[in-house]
Amino acid sequence: MAPLLAARPRLWGILIVSNSAEFDISHIRLGDRPLIVCDVDDVVLQFIGPFQLYLKSLGHEFLPRSFRLHGNIVSLADGVALEDQHVSRLILEFFEAQESWQTPIDPVVSTLERLSDDADVLFLTAMPPQFSAHRRRLLDSAGLTFPLLASEQPKGPIVQALHGGRDLPVVFIDDMARNLHSVKEHVADCLLIHLMPDSPVHRFAPAAAENIARARDWAHAAELIDQHLAAHTISRANPAA
Ligand SMILES: [Mg+2]
Repeated sequence: MAPLLAARPRLWGILIVSNSAEFDISHIRLGDRPLIVCDVDDVVLQFIGPFQLYLKSLGHEFLPRSFRLHGNIVSLADGVALEDQHVSRLILEFFEAQESWQTPIDPVVSTLERLSDDADVLFLTAMPPQFSAHRRRLLDSAGLTFPLLASEQPKGPIVQALHGGRDLPVVFIDDMARNLHSVKEHVADCLLIHLMPDSPVHRFAPAAAENIARARDWAHAAELIDQHLAAHTISRANPAA
């Protein structure tokens, strides 16, 4: 069995190897500065709102009864829940059509632009890689031109491979507790920020571990990031402090 992660964190040209797929991150170039890794759906781009509108356009409705899509999408005609296979297909079709539906969460564009003065920003989206080009075009059209990785593999090993053991601050932002926990497990001293929309379905979202920061919105997330970067600068200037 191939190792889950076969990476050389300090070298460029890294390949992450899972049992069946290779995931190439060799095109990612990081500077000698902090790294901010951002999830995309419901963190940078609206997802749940546009997805609900998309479903309505097809005669379906999402009922926020728990924190999952499968089992909670019903036909508007008869109220019967769609089969899991049908829901999975709708999610893929939405990714295909994302450019017509999804828009940035305000004020992510100006916030990331400002943060990118001092840090590398990278998008890590949990989406089948075949929709990368669609997402790339959508992000570019919004002025979000930062590098993008699309993968359905656990996020912790990916952030670990990207950041390696660099003595530089690293930040990870996501709306899913499981992704935050994966990065927490693999990347020491990472500032983890739980950022999610105030939507009916997100009220059912599993809570993140207590020591993971919860941001109210992008302005709050930016404040937490600024504090984290400033603390690192101070500790570097005063290593004995
Ligand atoms: Mg997300």
